[in-house]
Amino acid sequence: MLRNISKVVLQRAKFSTAAAPAPQTNPEILYTGLFINNEWLKSSDGKTFQTSNPANGKVIADIQQGNKSDIDQAVQAANDAFKLGSQWRRMDASQRGVLLNRLANLIERDAAYIASLETLDNGKPYQASYFHDVQGSIRSLRYYAGWADKNHGYTLPADGNYFAYTRPEPVGVCGQIIPWNFPLLMAAWKLGPALAAGCTLVLKPAEQTPLTALYVAQLVKEAGFPAGVVNVVPGFGDAGAALVAHPNVDKIAFTGSTEVGKLIQRGAADTMKRITLELGGKSPNIIFADADVAAAVDQAHHALFYNMGQCCTAGSRTFVEDKIYDQFVELAAARAQKRVVGDPFRADVDHGPQIDAEQQNKILGLIESGKRQGAKLQAGGSRAGDQGYFVQPTVFSEVNDDMDIARIEIFGPVQQVLRFSEVDEVIQRANNTEYGLAAAIYTKDLDRANYVIQSLRAGTVWVNDYNVFCNQVPFGGFKQSGLGRENGPYGIKNYIENKSVLVKLTAKNS
Ligand code: NAP
Ligand code: MG
Repeated sequence: MLRNISKVVLQRAKFSTAAAPAPQTNPEILYTGLFINNEWLKSSDGKTFQTSNPANGKVIADIQQGNKSDIDQAVQAANDAFKLGSQWRRMDASQRGVLLNRLANLIERDAAYIASLETLDNGKPYQASYFHDVQGSIRSLRYYAGWADKNHGYTLPADGNYFAYTRPEPVGVCGQIIPWNFPLLMAAWKLGPALAAGCTLVLKPAEQTPLTALYVAQLVKEAGFPAGVVNVVPGFGDAGAALVAHPNVDKIAFTGSTEVGKLIQRGAADTMKRITLELGGKSPNIIFADADVAAAVDQAHHALFYNMGQCCTAGSRTFVEDKIYDQFVELAAARAQKRVVGDPFRADVDHGPQIDAEQQNKILGLIESGKRQGAKLQAGGSRAGDQGYFVQPTVFSEVNDDMDIARIEIFGPVQQVLRFSEVDEVIQRANNTEYGLAAAIYTKDLDRANYVIQSLRAGTVWVNDYNVFCNQVPFGGFKQSGLGRENGPYGIKNYIENKSVLVKLTAKNS
């Protein structure tokens, strides 16, 4: 159960089965088209692609595959909706907040259905889909609904005889490119601030997981958003690239791999688009010997295995002080072996499949490299089951910093336990990566915690906890983990341009 409605403590994913309504294990697929101008369309060249269930590999539905010309049409719709004098631009800011709250209420109305759709398409356990992805999306939209009429500027004491002020204006038409690991939640994190700010948008879901974004598009219409404000175009990377290159798109918001993030930064340069990028990580999770060892083992477990390890924040370098290292490894391996792997619709299952065969093979290849390069396998180590894309929860000890499993973002259920002995040593090793998304420290020593907090180069540092996400608190990366922040006040600033206005004042009316 989520004890605090303003906060999602992702790692404590233990729910009472009574708390979530029963899932629909075979939810009806209602929307598979392109959502442009509040209408459902087919792709202009008639192409479709299949989305499938990662728990068994079976095809769920054929989805219309958006191409460059479909992106052009969606961008045109978003530009028309953004024109001065349009219904959207004339709407009171407070009314934008009302519409966002309505959208949140509609998602809440259909929460069990949407969570079922997410589990079917993505493979994450239903309890997590319901409590984290769907409820988290609702809370995010409500948070930004409150911001809609609170973006104010300044009046300024400009030199000369002027009435000088700033107008916070929406940045314009936004392209939003979404990953497959949190398909609905990442869409919600982007829709809320963009719409609160008064932008219009074209959203491209990941090719593996289009279903929840498409269903929510219909709810956008039901909530009463004018046509063209929100457009959803499912498709592949070429559709995303067309959005990035489009001269009539003002901003791109992207969550996904660092590799594609770099392509987006390059692609956006010609048109000088505003960009926010939330990219990969290889986050250090540092456990000092004075920590509560049993609690740290449990939290380090969830820090890595939550969402089958498919988290940009995954605590995939678990640094453990040598005095407790052997004890920690033994407990961590036992904890991983207790993880229940299986059908994500089953209430007792806390570990579903990876998203697809490509990710499964990449993970299995990295596990093999760990064995080959001399790490000690303590749990798991191979594929699980004979259908779907399951990987056993895997723990390696005796991991060195230069092994592939200690450097590459695995994005899978593979925990690396590394040994350290000195605080300055572990800080240097923790920072020795091109990434800088998140980090955590476990200690009871406040002075030490404060020293390490200042030393770590990461966008978020958790102390004695992990994967705590709050709508109010900014999230994003240092270094190659990204640009800009989502959530909190920073999240909406990325959707606003400030216009400075100087009005000449005359002393008298002549
Ligand atoms: P990805 O390629 O970065 O895909 C993310 C999104 O970008 C998808 O919607 C994708 O569309 C789109 N895209 C792909 N190429 C594009 C391009 N050239 N221009 C614009 N958009 C483009 O991620 P992935 O292939 O799904 O996963 C690969 C790795 O990325 C994972 O192993 C993991 O390390 C990392 N990843 C990180 C996160 C995160 O939260 N930081 C999330 C997902 C993946 P298609 O789906 O149609 O290709
Ligand atoms: Mg799918």
